[in-house]
Amino acid sequence: VRIGIFGGSFDPVHVGHLLVAEACAETLSLDEVRFVPAWEQPFKGGRHHASATHRVAMLELALRGNPRFVLDLCEVERQGVSYTIDTLVCLQKRFPDDQLFLLIGADAARDLSSWRDAARLPTLANIVVLSRPGVPLPQQPLVTHNIEVPAIDVSATAIRQAIGEGRSIRYQVTTEVHDYLVAHRLYT
Ligand code: ATP
Repeated sequence: VRIGIFGGSFDPVHVGHLLVAEACAETLSLDEVRFVPAWEQPFKGGRHHASATHRVAMLELALRGNPRFVLDLCEVERQGVSYTIDTLVCLQKRFPDDQLFLLIGADAARDLSSWRDAARLPTLANIVVLSRPGVPLPQQPLVTHNIEVPAIDVSATAIRQAIGEGRSIRYQVTTEVHDYLVAHRLYT
């Protein structure tokens, strides 16, 4: 079985995440993509904008209906700083006979070499970098695949900013996620 691992803040999950994960699953013939929301991102100074409970609830809504997409709560359950190396070790133990593919957007991959135990990451998973509009593909020796995915210029930062300014974010997130964040007044 070929398993994609897609980590992030998902603060909130948006259509960019869904589209590139699906494109990657097609290109690499992945049997599943596991979305792993971080408890605390090492590079984001700790704090997320929405609680883990809200971020997980929005992911549940967004992933529903795609049999290939799976929500993986290992980082949320582990708490503390979410290091990718710990997640890969844990997933490798859980799926010893499967092939793991770590999916990283080009922006996040820029500082890959400074991630904890970076040199060990490729021993546990194939390292896959996905193109992202406005970000050149980083030249990283640890990377096993560079994948050109459809360019979709949507980011969680821009979504939070739009909400803060009272602008529409319709179609940048799924309808269910949109309704959820309106109902819970997130990012206002
Ligand atoms: P923020 O704007 O808050 O930094 P984000 O939109 O980059 O958030 P994350 O949850 O940090 O979202 O991203 C999770 C992963 O998805 C990262 O590897 C990121 O590079 C990738 N990613 C997010 N949006 C896109 C996109 N539009 N195209 C390609 N990759 C993306």
